Amino acid sequence: MDDRQRCHGILSDLIAFPTVSADSNLDLIAYVANLLEDAGATVEVQQNPDGTKANLFATMGSTDQGGGIVLSGHTDVVPVADQDWTRDPFKMVEVDGNLFGRGTCDMKGFIAATLAKVDVLRDAATKRPIHFAFTYDEEVGCIGAQSLIDLLAARPVRPSIALIGEPTMMQVIEGHKGCCEYTVTFTGAAGHGSAPDRGVNAVEYAVRYINRLMELRQALIDRCPPDSRFDPPHSTINVGSLHGGSAHNVIAARAVLEWEMRPVVPEDHEFVLNDLRDYVGDVLLPDMRRVANWAEIETEIIGEVAGLTPMEHNAARDLMFRLTGANAAQTVPFGTEAGLFQSIGMDAVICGPGSIDQAHKPDEFLSVDQLDSCLTMLDRLAGT
Ligand SMILES: [Zn+2]
Repeated sequence: MDDRQRCHGILSDLIAFPTVSADSNLDLIAYVANLLEDAGATVEVQQNPDGTKANLFATMGSTDQGGGIVLSGHTDVVPVADQDWTRDPFKMVEVDGNLFGRGTCDMKGFIAATLAKVDVLRDAATKRPIHFAFTYDEEVGCIGAQSLIDLLAARPVRPSIALIGEPTMMQVIEGHKGCCEYTVTFTGAAGHGSAPDRGVNAVEYAVRYINRLMELRQALIDRCPPDSRFDPPHSTINVGSLHGGSAHNVIAARAVLEWEMRPVVPEDHEFVLNDLRDYVGDVLLPDMRRVANWAEIETEIIGEVAGLTPMEHNAARDLMFRLTGANAAQTVPFGTEAGLFQSIGMDAVICGPGSIDQAHKPDEFLSVDQLDSCLTMLDRLAGT
């Protein structure tokens, strides 16, 4: 069996594990761990706190040697419920040069390609280690990758390059914005609408908070880095929803606000959060507690996905230029785990088979040509 057939076989197996983010990925991880162990890799499985999901980190070559290359992908897929599939999403089929199934392009195709090439990668790992990092819960905020990064950051030696195989049609991607989502709950004091000063109106405080967000949105435009490569070039804030109150004549005791920020540089993220912390602590809460000392503003972090900042020097990007023949790198509007690797001082790049246009859609597919290009790239990686 050649590597291409092997790759299709592995991909078909991976698709058959219905690893929707809400469900366990442990069966898939056990399958991959087995395959990598048989090929001679050192495999570590890192479970989530309740033991229902896991990351896998495997090393070909020496585990004490730094400077290796990480091939990274997420094992979870988005749900298929409420989508109009014309075939079984968890049974891969090939039709006219396309492989159909949930997760074919986002992003089990890349994972299957790396696993099909374990033998050549093992031979190449005598020069520098090659690692496999397969995570859980990427689609719901890069939760698995965050704990994997914490694990790597605590080690005396770590890899220097990360390749994230999200679908880019094998284009080299060197940047994306961060994506940070928050839910803020305002707890005030109910009362009769005829006496507004005897209650604490949670909706009114939520509106003041939103006004502050709108001021910060303007400030972020003014802070736009002159050399930004993003569209729009500055960090953005969006107010997604506001729910609160109960009736015309009742002082609203509770309001819930959902908002997000997409920072182009980590400093903008800090700038906004610091400003809001001070505004809440110095202005809003003291005002609320003058009337009701139990009043509260609580912020829940739904997800904080670090951006991937384009860098002048990026060994991961330059390596992918050599392996794919590309000579320019782009930025993309979607978030990935790449920024997390960058946050611990690694060079990171995104390049993988398939199109993001097919990701998250019914009848998701990956073209065989794209998978072939990825296999060729991995052969070249082994040869460098
Ligand atoms: Zn993805």
